[in-house]
Amino acid sequence: MNILTFDIEDWYNHDDYSRDFAWEKHEVRIYEGTEKILTALDERGLKGTFFCVGWIAEHHPKVIQWIAERGHHIGCHSYQHELATRFTREQFKEDTYKAKCLIEDAAGQEVDAFRVPSFSITKNNLWAFDVLAELGFKYDSSVFPSHHEFGGIPGFKAEPTVIRTHKGDIKEFPICLGRLLGREIVFSGGGYFRVMPYFLTKRMTDKDDYVMAYFHPSDFDPGQPQMPQLPKMRQFKNRVALKGAFKKFKRYISDYDFTSIADADNSIDWNDSRCLTLGEIKNKLL
Ligand SMILES: [Zn+2]
Repeated sequence: MNILTFDIEDWYNHDDYSRDFAWEKHEVRIYEGTEKILTALDERGLKGTFFCVGWIAEHHPKVIQWIAERGHHIGCHSYQHELATRFTREQFKEDTYKAKCLIEDAAGQEVDAFRVPSFSITKNNLWAFDVLAELGFKYDSSVFPSHHEFGGIPGFKAEPTVIRTHKGDIKEFPICLGRLLGREIVFSGGGYFRVMPYFLTKRMTDKDDYVMAYFHPSDFDPGQPQMPQLPKMRQFKNRVALKGAFKKFKRYISDYDFTSIADADNSIDWNDSRCLTLGEIKNKLL
């Protein structure tokens, strides 16, 4: 099963290092970036899940409308891309609810899927899943099943899993990892997808029964401005192999079939899937 997802944020919608949220001053590139993706998916007749930042829904609602009109599954990617590890439970709830409402207003439909910014759910803020269930989310795609700069839950198996929260069940669709030279690596999204030779991406995709592909409009935008305030390594990661990435993406979606999370849900036998309580995740009984 190959799942196609996008995080709809503009090139400047990151607070990972800089807490400067005065975003109106930046050059807007999200319309062009999103349209490019939507056209490629239309040409291939594919549907994906689009996790949208609430700030974009508030300031550029047309982008969300376009995605909805083209029949894609719409999810929430927080209000302004703050790390969940910086929030208390109440702040996380407030931020997520605000974003959900803004995106629902722009899309004209219910938003039932969530992805946290920068994989920032860890075993120390598992209450996030309670909040998501409380707010009516059915699906989540936040778990990074290894160590990550901003989060991750090492040991979590990369396969669709029911997470039993105190407020109801959430269907989790984690990020997937491949193996190269004995190391776990991301191959189906972001900078890793851009850098890796295509034959390796293909080999890893063929090997995996469950592939979670994730992209951003900025992954395919070599013209985006520099961000000199970021550390050099981060700047490098953001910019490496941008040229040619869209071509590679189009090749990837022409070589494989992909579905949205909502469509994948219908083809999964959940009675046969893993089911974990928050306590089991916390205590690494994975
Ligand atoms: Zn993001």
